[in-house]
Amino acid sequence: MQKLTTHYQQLLGLPATWEVEDVNLSLTGQRIEVRLRFIGNAVFCSECGLQGTVYDHAPEQRWRHLDTMQFETIIIARIPRSQCSRCGVKTITVPWADRHSRFTLMFEGFAIALLQHCSNTQAAAKMLRLGWQATSDIMNRAVQRALSRRAPEKLSHIGIDEKSFKSGHHYITILNDIAGSRVLDVVEERTTEATEMLLETLTESQRTGVASVSVDMWKPFASAVKKLLPQADIVHDRFHISKYLNNAVDIVRRQESRQLCKTGNTSLVGSKFTWLRNPENMNTVQKGRFDELMESMLETGVAWSLKNSFRVFWECPTEARAKLFFSYWCEVVDKSGLKLMMEVKGLLKRHSNNILNYFKHWVTNAVSEGLNSKIQMLKASARGFHNFESYRARILFYCGKLDMRIDTVP
Ligand SMILES: [Zn+2]
Repeated sequence: MQKLTTHYQQLLGLPATWEVEDVNLSLTGQRIEVRLRFIGNAVFCSECGLQGTVYDHAPEQRWRHLDTMQFETIIIARIPRSQCSRCGVKTITVPWADRHSRFTLMFEGFAIALLQHCSNTQAAAKMLRLGWQATSDIMNRAVQRALSRRAPEKLSHIGIDEKSFKSGHHYITILNDIAGSRVLDVVEERTTEATEMLLETLTESQRTGVASVSVDMWKPFASAVKKLLPQADIVHDRFHISKYLNNAVDIVRRQESRQLCKTGNTSLVGSKFTWLRNPENMNTVQKGRFDELMESMLETGVAWSLKNSFRVFWECPTEARAKLFFSYWCEVVDKSGLKLMMEVKGLLKRHSNNILNYFKHWVTNAVSEGLNSKIQMLKASARGFHNFESYRARILFYCGKLDMRIDTVP
């Protein structure tokens, strides 16, 4: 028995202040219980670090550890409470677990690695025999630990994006590091105050170092940027402009489809994605349907052509050429007489300085787009988050490129 306790003592890598008191194996319960005892002389306050005296021991607590073979392994201990002259009676911190966690750090470290490498969170949780809440708690703690030690690196190009949350009109605002292609932080709402709060998560020197901010034309975003990053250029990049153009084409399609259906013509029904795809990405069947629709001289086809021709804008080699193309494109839109496209044109015209800023910074849209679809996948796989904190933690866990290693052993 002595050998077994020594064995576990070594396996757990405990400091000299803790010893393995006994190890119990339950074959029927498929469980091993390892009982620890505090044998140190000094205790330190968990609040201020001051040395105190042992006041008493907290009731027994249990932590799930890494399995021993196929046996679930549980650490059991009564944690001493220190009498601190400054803070009063406080439970001391233990070397094997975070406060308020029911798992050892080694278990959490293993769970984090598995969750990071498994695209399906539910599958990983099942392998770990963890419920949804316990998995979320482990992820939350991993994110908190990593955020608290994240260094304030220089950020030259950042992006601000919105994403819907819950059903209806709830939104979250996401701050991206474009060069590092990672999410920096997330807040609830998409108001000026929320955006300011998000930008205030950056340090003063990070804020002054930002050269460009990639955003859509939502006013609160621009207001917050102007206030907190006055030196930075606002850039409405391809990703954001495409959203407006695609949306306008879709509204034209819906309106026209409604009109056509009245006369028994259903050719536009179910064609939403036909107008969203680029022709070069269509397969033969899709291309056939698209060509057919284009030949029927529909307003939707005209709107699509206007949207599609705007791609040339992004390929202009200089700002001057882009300016020229833009005024030409605006004239063509006016000639089309399509009210909705003219509205989008008006919007783009009002923001043309920020759109042309693209040619100063050449901020690529691929990062925002990539992160956006990754977040969309997280949302879909969790069937919608009801709790903002869990949603934020999940986004930062998978898209934050955080260093979530656990150094303290066990
Ligand atoms: Zn204290």
